[in-house]
Amino acid sequence: MCPYPRAARPLVSGVTVSLTMLSVFALVFMAGVDLDTELRVLQAAAKENEAFAIVESLTTEVGSRLAGSEAEARARAWAVKKLTALGFKNIRVESTSVPGWERGEEVARIVRPFPQNLAITALGGSVATPAGGLSAELLPFETLTDLQAAPAGALHGKIAFINQAMPKTQDGSGYGAVVAIRSQGPSVAAAKGAAAILIRSVGTDHHRFPHTGMLQYADESPKIPAAALSAPDADQLSRIFARKEKVFLHLELKPRMTGDKPTGNVIAEIPGRIHPEEIILLGAHLDSWDLGTGAVDDGAGVAIVTAAAKLILDHSPRPPARTIRVVLFGAEEVGLVGAKAYAKRHADELPRHIVALESDFGAGPVYRLSGHVPDRTWPILESLQKKYLARLMIVPGENHKAGGPDLYPLRPAKVPIIGLEQDGRDYFDLHHTADDTVDKINPHSLSQNVAAYATVAWWASEIGPRFRLKPEAAEKSSPTAGE
Ligand SMILES: [Zn+2]
Repeated sequence: MCPYPRAARPLVSGVTVSLTMLSVFALVFMAGVDLDTELRVLQAAAKENEAFAIVESLTTEVGSRLAGSEAEARARAWAVKKLTALGFKNIRVESTSVPGWERGEEVARIVRPFPQNLAITALGGSVATPAGGLSAELLPFETLTDLQAAPAGALHGKIAFINQAMPKTQDGSGYGAVVAIRSQGPSVAAAKGAAAILIRSVGTDHHRFPHTGMLQYADESPKIPAAALSAPDADQLSRIFARKEKVFLHLELKPRMTGDKPTGNVIAEIPGRIHPEEIILLGAHLDSWDLGTGAVDDGAGVAIVTAAAKLILDHSPRPPARTIRVVLFGAEEVGLVGAKAYAKRHADELPRHIVALESDFGAGPVYRLSGHVPDRTWPILESLQKKYLARLMIVPGENHKAGGPDLYPLRPAKVPIIGLEQDGRDYFDLHHTADDTVDKINPHSLSQNVAAYATVAWWASEIGPRFRLKPEAAEKSSPTAGE
């Protein structure tokens, strides 16, 4: 495919074609291409990108995509078809497997003092309650630390309840502060003799949607059933406890493990024109929880990275110097299964990963550039922010901070990571709930993400391995502008 006629297509299809833009293109087509001009072309074209159409298609035509499910398999087929239609190369699925888990019926009811139903959902990986459910006294704790401080055996036969609220923050740090109630709470309660655990949802909304998410059973404790309550239901319980009443609950959860199931990563590329063996990785995850349609987590990320690569395919004056690889990871939610498989399968190639980025924080605008790169490399990112990202309203952040969860398995190989941090104030209102649907996505902020990802991907592909630990290799293989 010759990229030149395509580069002009969005302009001529527009109502007006400004002389200024034509002269920008004239510049690009001339031999002396400069990076700034190329990036301005990409950033201008991002306004008309197809990111929203991609997430709309995924969430409508596939819906929720639980790891290992038949729906996740349909999502892989959807991705192959979509990436093919968009014109990418080297499209393939790299298969692996994941322990299957399915949610069943889930009911919680206050038996006394004030009989009523509660809105709950099982945590991912939870075992079921005994047949017929279990009825027991509920014991409240304000925090996980309080539960940890309870004497051994204090919860014998009872249901633990942790009512720890998550603070709302722009950068998502509130999540890190409380997520252990979900991941570790079940085994902490089990170690004290509890028969089950309920937690206040790890989320920031005030709607009656409980938030699911993975738990991690410790090997040394019995596995007990675990569920999250919506925030208003946790508040309701707290009002009842404030009346100095003992609370008895009936809990019935019927999830089940379904054995090893297929999962996998879907990969597509724009082959590099000079160093095709060197990779710029743009990642997101294809799986979602089962309650909503996984629009913000992580349909938005799938759309952002795919549309950013498509922007380069259609609007850059020539192919990128290095390969831009889109990786849509499988089974992220249940323990980074696809990402770990990628790191293993591509171990030989990881030293040639110039940089990796992942979009997995919803659809809010990018406001800050961060990194996880060697200290001596950080000034390069500062100049990237100043020269090319400030005009997208992106401010400088910090080093040793960035990276989506699917990039954690790349860290031991020292793959440099760039973080385009999104404003996440709404993200945990929707995260892992039935309310995570496509109507929550603002197409305008999605486009700003696409511009930011395309900018960094093109820039990194041209600047080359100056990110790597061995700087001497950098100067040798970096193409100069216009090469
Ligand atoms: Zn996610």
